Amino acid sequence: MPKNAIGNFTRTPIQGPLPYIDIKEIAEYRRELWNHELIGVLKKGQWTGYDYGNISFRMPMSSQEQKGVFLSCSQTSSKPEISMHDFALVIDYDSDKFEIRYIGAESPSSETPIHLSAYLADENIGAVIHGHIVNENYALDKNTPYFPPHVLDFFQKNKLPCTKLRSKTKESGDEIFRIVKDMRYVHTKDIPVIGMPNHDGGFGLIILGKDFKEAYDKTLEFYGNLLKFGKQL
Ligand SMILES: [Zn+2]
Repeated sequence: MPKNAIGNFTRTPIQGPLPYIDIKEIAEYRRELWNHELIGVLKKGQWTGYDYGNISFRMPMSSQEQKGVFLSCSQTSSKPEISMHDFALVIDYDSDKFEIRYIGAESPSSETPIHLSAYLADENIGAVIHGHIVNENYALDKNTPYFPPHVLDFFQKNKLPCTKLRSKTKESGDEIFRIVKDMRYVHTKDIPVIGMPNHDGGFGLIILGKDFKEAYDKTLEFYGNLLKFGKQL
């Protein structure tokens, strides 16, 4: 794969005002994700200063405006409080051309392809949370990842889907598409989570929901189970 394919999908801005949506509740849930450090900025190790974690949700069905997916922008992860100005509306993702078109003053996160692939794979998905499991004390040695080993054990023990690919490639988007298709999200009784052990700056998580509240509840449930598992060891 060519080197420039890393995070280098084409982003074409489309002129027009960003539709306004009331995101008060979403901002509150997202603040909790930030409080739990599932979203944030790394303070130690080789990725110091790296913003991690991002969120997205579909344009509400009731809206008469443009269809699409609202996705948080690149520099948003460091902020505890967010507003609509921290989002772009992605109106189109062409996975073959590895290209998006979006409305907004800033371009959406470099992890846009993993979000959009999930929405393309299943029309029942209304929100995606991408968080990181981070423990910076593990990262002080350059060759050690930012997460404790039990995170991967937890995925393996529970047979949860993982991708070994890094997140910012066309191939990782295509793989997320396949995993989400296989997951049959509407029928799953489990927490719809995908793990990314080879992710930059932490163990990457993708958690799906029919709306943002469901994705948030599932994320906290997953996080609680993971903490419990870690304590039992
Ligand atoms: Zn990430």
